[in-house]
Amino acid sequence: MGKKIFVTQPSLPALEDFIPYLQKIWDSKWLTNNGEFHREFERRLAEYLGVKYVSLFTNGMIALQVGLQALRITGEVITTPFTFVATTHAIHWNNCKPVFCDIEPETFTMDPDKVEALITPQTTALMPVHVYGNPCDHEKLQKIADTYGLKLFYDAAHVFGVRKDGVSVCNWGDLSMLSFHATKVFNTFEGGALVTDDENMKKRIDFLKNFGFADEVTVVAPGSNGKMDEFRAAYGLLQLQIVDGEIAKRQKVAEFYREALKDVPGITMLYDLPGVRHNYAYFPILVDAEKYGITRDALYEKFKASGIMTRRYFYPLCSDFPTYRGLPSATAKNLPVATRVAQEILCLPMYADLTEEDLGKIIQFVAGKK
Ligand SMILES: *Cc1c(COP(=O)(O)O)cnc(C)c1O
Repeated sequence: MGKKIFVTQPSLPALEDFIPYLQKIWDSKWLTNNGEFHREFERRLAEYLGVKYVSLFTNGMIALQVGLQALRITGEVITTPFTFVATTHAIHWNNCKPVFCDIEPETFTMDPDKVEALITPQTTALMPVHVYGNPCDHEKLQKIADTYGLKLFYDAAHVFGVRKDGVSVCNWGDLSMLSFHATKVFNTFEGGALVTDDENMKKRIDFLKNFGFADEVTVVAPGSNGKMDEFRAAYGLLQLQIVDGEIAKRQKVAEFYREALKDVPGITMLYDLPGVRHNYAYFPILVDAEKYGITRDALYEKFKASGIMTRRYFYPLCSDFPTYRGLPSATAKNLPVATRVAQEILCLPMYADLTEEDLGKIIQFVAGKK
């Protein structure tokens, strides 16, 4: 077996470019708690994304938990089962009940036409996910939120740098959460952020991520510790300089895949949506076992046996995990599209430095069913 091909690989800035930043941290001995790099990174990130306020976090999960606290979400939250477990877990950790809504067959995002039937007197919020960087149908979701007086909190972990009609999708809704985990398009090793256009909300989030401290002696809420440190904020500043180049390289990989796989029977791909600047975070395909000849799982196992790592992402659905599968909304009958997609989905290797040689191997494999 040759060298392994991983499903993802982070992009790092040049190490020598990081050294001067480290020197500054060592000189100042200011390691965390809103230091110079933290403030600069928040400012630059807001500029880059084209949003009003950014609050940095130590990871995306805590940002989700704090975001729900900041919005004072209680009762039931309508969300999607086709996401990473963090979305559902954050709702659970806030003592709220996730209510699963089915997804759209084209974009795999929460289907707005199925939301209203799930609203009860206990519903307080919608928590959709821009899955694989596909923006949700924001207009419809916002209209529902406005009509029923619900908060709209986007899990935007997949949409770093994604714009619709020139505007960052992180401007949508009441809050958006970003993740800078190592596997994402933009990484700070671990990290995350909340995005808001409301100055008071930004302030409240910043209290909550620092134990609830409003000043030295005033604790205004039972906060958590979600702060990002100076090391990662400095690294994030360097990442900002390379991210557009990395997205451009990812786009080339996506175009290569799309061209090479377009005539393979039983394989469906996602394409760019009109007016959207994508970030090519993932390259998901659907495997129709009948038309393709073998099942998704068989293809996955064959890939694995030859050292090519793919990922059944998202499978199982969040609604199938033990904590959530007893919920009334967790049935396959309520979630027909999500159930089918979870059975057929496979994410192929996708990262900026994927070589043409490796791409060739992967494509051979899918097209030749070897
Ligand atoms: C990665 C991810 C998260 C969690 O982010 P972390 O930074 O790893 O805590 C949440 N939601 C989705 C959809 C993700 O992909």
